[in-house]
Formats: sequence, C-alpha cells, structure tokens
Amino acid sequence: MDLLTVVVIYCFAVGGFFMGLWLFYGRREYSLFEQARRKTTFLCARCNKLYAAAGSPETCVCPRCGHENARLKF
Ligand SMILES: [Zn+2]
Repeated sequence: MDLLTVVVIYCFAVGGFFMGLWLFYGRREYSLFEQARRKTTFLCARCNKLYAAAGSPETCVCPRCGHENARLKF
C-alpha cells in the first residue's frame, strides 16, 4: 500500500465518521422537534395554568390543581 491509498482511505473513514454523526444528530434533532411539535397546550379552566402534554390527548389533568381540562382549540 502506498501513502496515497492510505490517505484516501483515511479521508473516507473520517468523512464517513462525520457523515454518520451528522445523520445521527440530524435524526435525533428531528425527532425532538417532532415531539415538541406534537405537544398539546391546555389552559386550566379552574386555576388558569397554561401547560402542555405530549402527544395529542383530548383531555389532560392540570398539574397544579388536578382539574381535567379539554384541549385548547386554535
Ligand atoms: Zn388547574
């Protein structure tokens, strides 16, 4: 093996490593973004606390007073 081959292989290895990292973090950030986007906002009818729940449930119990609130419609 000559030096050029070693350098080319090294470049591909490093490039592939960073490409893998980029894909990994890109996907992770995308799924975090998706989770944040799928949050549903609730406004408590009893104590006026604004809170969010993951996913899109129709009702969610208020973390402050325990009152069950319906989803806010925008
Ligand atoms: Zn409440």
